[in-house]
Amino acid sequence: MKTYNDRTKSNAVNMEVGTRFPLTIKQIGINGEGIGYYKHKIVFIPNALPEELVTAEATEVTDRYIRAKIHTMRRESQHRVPTRDSYAEEVGGFELEHLSYPQQLKFKRDLVMQSLEKFKPRGYNKYQIRATLGMENPYEYRNKAQFQIRIIDGHVAAGLFKPGSHDLVDLEECSVQMPATMKVMRALVQMIEDLEIPVYDEEANSGIIKTIAVRVANETGNVQVTFITNSPKLPKKRDLLARMAEELPEVTSVMQNINKGKGPLIWGDETVHLAGSTAITEKIGDLQFRLSARAFLQLNPQQTDVLYAETKHALRVNKHDTLVDAYAGIGTIGLSLATKVKQVVGMEVIEDAVKDANFNAALNGIDNAQYEVGTAEEIIPKWLEQGLQVDAMVVDPPRAGLDEKLMEQILLADPEKFVYVSCNPSTLARDLVTLTERYNVEYMQPVDMMPQTPKCEVVVKLVRN
Ligand code: SAH
Repeated sequence: MKTYNDRTKSNAVNMEVGTRFPLTIKQIGINGEGIGYYKHKIVFIPNALPEELVTAEATEVTDRYIRAKIHTMRRESQHRVPTRDSYAEEVGGFELEHLSYPQQLKFKRDLVMQSLEKFKPRGYNKYQIRATLGMENPYEYRNKAQFQIRIIDGHVAAGLFKPGSHDLVDLEECSVQMPATMKVMRALVQMIEDLEIPVYDEEANSGIIKTIAVRVANETGNVQVTFITNSPKLPKKRDLLARMAEELPEVTSVMQNINKGKGPLIWGDETVHLAGSTAITEKIGDLQFRLSARAFLQLNPQQTDVLYAETKHALRVNKHDTLVDAYAGIGTIGLSLATKVKQVVGMEVIEDAVKDANFNAALNGIDNAQYEVGTAEEIIPKWLEQGLQVDAMVVDPPRAGLDEKLMEQILLADPEKFVYVSCNPSTLARDLVTLTERYNVEYMQPVDMMPQTPKCEVVVKLVRN
């Protein structure tokens, strides 16, 4: 398979923005966009599918690439399907909604191959890459809606920004959200509107409510709401909480997170409790997990079971093993394996999540698991210095992947059983270049945690070479 890097050598194309040109789509890129070549120059074109023939219209032209949009569809892919969300082409999270689901699953496996082709870790062309494990119904799966709140045409709107902008698209319905999150979100929008609570205004940096996060515990139906605000104040708080108690009995935890000003981050450092409990409880496998507002949880509960089953299967731990659960969140992976091993030690950078992880150990009667606050880069060398013998390790990093120094430490720790759970095939392929100095890739198992998007999760079983 060719990657697009191979083909961008001669690219002296003079073209102005707005120029129309014929384009045949060859493949789908890592962001879900169509990729074609115009006079050997790479063209990125969102919402276009392989084998489609379009008249493209240039939207950006640089020395290295052209970005374009579809002006006219000339020949449609047989795998194109109607989208359920009218705004699917406008906001992130729906990049592949126009592609049939079996083809989405195939694309995700191809994406793993594309990434390996790019970084070429040792032996990559012989890796066993399994078929992507998908959902029977790839909709209504998300347990969390984190929507921006703004005023549009004099009314409160809740939704997502168009990519690269702060133009909000109001999402009244959303095919990938669980109905429970959308019901609460739309009810809150109505309450804010009725009570005339000030909504954040970006330009003036005034107003209060910036973002609302609604997260549902699938097992119990309990919902946690977090208002992310531009100030510690929340005008009409009492009225708002009273209406929520009256109209939204499923909301069992209400929090406020304060994030002043225009910074790029959604969450601020300070979280305060407004009503109900400070956390909600989710069941995963046989265990109960307390979940604070700031803590990460996989956002597709049904596929989380699949992902964790694959992780366990790949790790094959036993009663003599010391297991490291790195990038632990609230301890879901390590605690699920605690009864099968001698001990679990884990780390995670968000303090509230670590509190949850240790609380969750106790909640489930687990006394051989301990979690610490800190980065994997700090904590793993410290443990090794203290003489920890690591038999098994699972790493589940964010999209940035593993830090180079951390990988050196992992190679020093030399766990016999090693599983890498990745949410980004690109950084995974990059990291495998280093990790395959010591390990072979036994297999890679893609799991679809986010249908309708180009995002892909992969469980990699590594064995010492
Ligand atoms: N294994 C968990 C969480 C995975 S998400 C689960 O399945 O739910 C990745 C987690 O890594 C997040 O909770 C994030 O807060 C944490 N994290 C990010 N950078 C980190 C670092 N450098 N060291 C340790 N944890 C980190």
